[in-house]
Amino acid sequence: MNKGSVITLNEKAVQNNIRFLKKKMGSKVRISSVVKANAYGHGIEQIVPLFQKAGIDHFSVFDYNEALRVSTSLLKPASIMIMGWIADNNIKDTIEKGFEFYIFNIKRLDLALKYSKLIKIKAKIHLEVETGMHRSGLNKEELNAAIKIILDNIDCFELVGFCTHLAGAESVSNHLRIQKQLKNYQKMLSILESNNLKPNYKHVANSAAAFVYPKTRMDMVRIGIMQYGFWPSMETFIFYVSNKLDRSDPLNRILSWKSEIMSIETVKTGEYIGYGISYLAQSDRITALIPIGYSIGYSRSLSNKGRVLIGGQRCGVIGLVNMNMIIADITNVPGAKVGDEVVIVGKQGDLEMKVSAFSDISNELNYEVLTHLSSALKRSVI
Ligand SMILES: *Cc1c(COP(=O)(O)O)cnc(C)c1O
Repeated sequence: MNKGSVITLNEKAVQNNIRFLKKKMGSKVRISSVVKANAYGHGIEQIVPLFQKAGIDHFSVFDYNEALRVSTSLLKPASIMIMGWIADNNIKDTIEKGFEFYIFNIKRLDLALKYSKLIKIKAKIHLEVETGMHRSGLNKEELNAAIKIILDNIDCFELVGFCTHLAGAESVSNHLRIQKQLKNYQKMLSILESNNLKPNYKHVANSAAAFVYPKTRMDMVRIGIMQYGFWPSMETFIFYVSNKLDRSDPLNRILSWKSEIMSIETVKTGEYIGYGISYLAQSDRITALIPIGYSIGYSRSLSNKGRVLIGGQRCGVIGLVNMNMIIADITNVPGAKVGDEVVIVGKQGDLEMKVSAFSDISNELNYEVLTHLSSALKRSVI
């Protein structure tokens, strides 16, 4: 446990974001809250209760273990959907626990059938169809085969969903491809419906699609990044505010990341600071050592480039980011002392460090920066 730095989650921001998303999607569209990758680095155990209190009752994860973590974090019953990996020997437990799960090949449907028969509990399935992303999903032949299996064993399945994933709705350059995917989805859906099968939820949209292409909202949207207060891309945000009088961001960041000064040193002109020769003091410098490094998610590519807030001022990262430590230049922060607060992400005084401020420098996506935040960091809710 790295006690020298903590992540705090702001409950008011959660409520603001979920309220905004619910209002925009309307009462007919269910929101599935995507909490894969440790809730985008925020922490599944902390985030799930907060989202539930804000009115979320459906959660999406990537794998079986995350589904277990969500289920033990729930304040009251909710649906949990596994969009990706389940080891064959966990399919039985998946059904037993009532988790919903994607069917993207016949093998998994066969296993679902086998265990459903064995334990006499319906498998809650979402048929995922391949529409042009070429990542996962049933093609037309497989869909027909799946339909036959389901019709022959109608007591073993609850057809909860019929879904696909769009290949990049956050960028206009993918517009044509997405339109083609939506056409393919409708074709696949008509195959299903011509066999008198009707899913409870048709769903294709992630955050970007839900905002850029309203017709993709259908019965349910799978919202990840926006719940946490981030737009999927600058383009999506600009698209949203372009026809609004008020161009302020309706979303609030949930997460802050803070640490403290571990020690302070004075370095004379002409000395190198940190490993190697990446930083040469060109004048006398005062430096602060901070117990965060690339092992807990502060990217090495922020070496000599990153910024942190100390004493209400922006301070540059000096030299290379180490495994567990960084050094910041506090020459211009009079009175800084050991134990003072260091803000890596979040606000201090009038200044704010945004995730985008360092994702721009490190050339990572917001998604990457967030999900690299180590689960060893303590998370608390304010
Ligand atoms: C991650 C994911 C989402 C959520 O995407 P955001 O861009 O974070 O909203 C939706 N659907 C699937 C299948 C995903 O893997």
